[in-house]
Amino acid sequence: MIEIRNLDKCYNMGKGTEIQALKQINLTVTGGEFVVVVGSNGSGKSTLLNVIAGSVVPDSGLIFLDKTNVTGIKEHLRTKFVSRVFQNPLAGTASDLTILDNFRLAALRTQPKTLRIGVNEVFRRVVREKIAGLNMGLEDKVDQLMGTLSGGQRQALTLLMSVMDKGNILLLDEPTAALDPRSAKTVMQIADKLIAEYRLTGILITHNIREAYTYGSRIIQMKQGELIRDLDTSAKANLSNTEIYEWFD
Ligand code: ADP
Ligand code: MG
Repeated sequence: MIEIRNLDKCYNMGKGTEIQALKQINLTVTGGEFVVVVGSNGSGKSTLLNVIAGSVVPDSGLIFLDKTNVTGIKEHLRTKFVSRVFQNPLAGTASDLTILDNFRLAALRTQPKTLRIGVNEVFRRVVREKIAGLNMGLEDKVDQLMGTLSGGQRQALTLLMSVMDKGNILLLDEPTAALDPRSAKTVMQIADKLIAEYRLTGILITHNIREAYTYGSRIIQMKQGELIRDLDTSAKANLSNTEIYEWFD
């Protein structure tokens, strides 16, 4: 669950380049909700996700993640609540490590020592089973270097690692923007499935009209640092194929 109260963020305060990136944002996203965020370039979408994750510090306002006030908590200490997938497939995984070692690294980052790895063979089996669930045939490649995989395969594995090892909140900042259409579709289907299966709190930023129409249980539009539209599940479901175009003005 994410709760945001009266959030403000200004960059370059007092300078000629001053920009109010977030203006009095209030937002509550509950477990199992999958919110699609759209809006033109510079409307504050990434800043919003960065403030939730802790990589950008707001000027004022409060952020609660799973009922914990994390407003003053540093990014690396929020990873037990939040995981992120970025546009660049290289950002989420280490190219020169195997798939299995990437999963090991993710587990090390977030789990208490005793749970860390367990018996090596057990860890391998669990990872293989989870990867098999992606239906991409990657379970037989766990000893292959991550760098040998395609962008779509890496994004899918990054998603899975997020869900296995981290918190209940998944932030996706244009995760498919660097992928070909077919891989993009696969990655979105996996994200959708994982969010539903694990009852995650999901936020997706996308510039892709089809994705915004197809996925998510709610849609929000940002403009110049403000949330200007917010449709719940039934209203979103009733959006027509053509109405969604208005959201991308
Ligand atoms: P979006 O993701 O919707 O494109 P951003 O949140 O990245 O928008 O940016 C919102 C506004 O804040 C833009 O005008 C952008 O130029 C500005 N901005 C973003 N990050 C910084 C930063 N680190 N320093 C200064 N200005 C920034
Ligand atoms: Mg952005």
